[in-house]
Amino acid sequence: MIKDDCIFCKIAKGDIPSATIYETGDFKCILDVAPANKGHALIITKEHYDNIFQLDAETAAKIFSFATVAAKAIKEETGCEGMNVLQNNGAVAGQTVNHFHLHLVPRNTGDGVNMSWAPKETVAEEQQTLAKAIKSRI
Ligand code: AMP
Ligand code: ZN
Repeated sequence: MIKDDCIFCKIAKGDIPSATIYETGDFKCILDVAPANKGHALIITKEHYDNIFQLDAETAAKIFSFATVAAKAIKEETGCEGMNVLQNNGAVAGQTVNHFHLHLVPRNTGDGVNMSWAPKETVAEEQQTLAKAIKSRI
């Protein structure tokens, strides 16, 4: 499915230009137009999925598999020291473009990019109960 009013559907189709690194029938890997760092790339699906909650495991496997290839190529080319691979789902999680995409963000010492959070405390028994409850839904 393609959504007419979706910017990433238009990029996926080639109707809006992008700096394309690589593409297959399932996804397109492009440079982010407003990068956190040089070499910040996105892997976007060719079909429209709002987010991970809509995406099928087969397409996801292809995207996450290619992420390992793209990460190495970006690291080699940019000389970055590290990389964040992240993926936002829902406005509350920071998603601004409602079409599934995976971020590859090259990282360097002192680059000022901030992806930290304050860790919450846990109780071991509650963690076990929660893990089992989630498992029951798989
Ligand atoms: P998110 O906040 O996870 O939805 O990320 C959306 C990303 O898409 C941001 O990093 C934007 O800079 C990027 N973006 C938005 N429009 C374009 C575009 N036309 N070409 C490339 N990247 C884009
Ligand atoms: Zn779309």
